[in-house]
Amino acid sequence: MDRRYERLDLMYNFNGAEQHLFPVVLLGGEDVVLVDCGYPGSLEMLEEQLRQHGIRPDAVTKLVLTHQDDDHIGTAAAWKKKYPAVAIVGSRTETPYLSGYRKNLRLQQAEQLQDSLPEDQKDYGEQFCSRYRALAPVPVDLQVSGGDRFGWGGGCEVVTTPGHTPGHISIRALDNAFMVTGDGAVAEDGELAIANPAFCLDRAAAQRSLDLVAQYHCREYLCYHGGLVVR
Ligand SMILES: [Zn+2]
Repeated sequence: MDRRYERLDLMYNFNGAEQHLFPVVLLGGEDVVLVDCGYPGSLEMLEEQLRQHGIRPDAVTKLVLTHQDDDHIGTAAAWKKKYPAVAIVGSRTETPYLSGYRKNLRLQQAEQLQDSLPEDQKDYGEQFCSRYRALAPVPVDLQVSGGDRFGWGGGCEVVTTPGHTPGHISIRALDNAFMVTGDGAVAEDGELAIANPAFCLDRAAAQRSLDLVAQYHCREYLCYHGGLVVR
């Protein structure tokens, strides 16, 4: 069978600490679908990664945003500006935040936490808020819901995986060959785990979503954080 997806690797260096993010490109059918796009300023790194995987950046037809966090949507507005033909895809619930009609929930959370932070963390908290205030919103061209099916990656469906944020989505291959988890699950020591449990907007929902993700028993879980979990 033709390849159904490519896994990209975006590498960042924050104060000497390496961080990797793994966007996925779903291939097959009429679409070339990039799922999530890194922090702001990642446009050239994304283009380079796509080329390294034999994909022309201007061949990307859709950009799916799993949720509103800046490490997932940071380059979406810049991408849309450079490649206006790309359709931005987000869940119905997440769309008002992606498109800037409502204030980003992660920013709201950080602002609420700011007063209770210990003195030595207040600067970091303020920087975090500034980063989110500068985050460029992007209009959503195609709103999707759980159960929506597409030909992407050889046939897949949208799975709602709320908790990390209310409208978070993951993408499951219909034959369970793979699942693109977004932050519905991260890979830790080769196992699926909750992403940043302390900052889940709804911790109980995040646990239910993680259970759901695992319950499909997909052969490969393509996690945005931590990489691949193979079963
Ligand atoms: Zn993330």
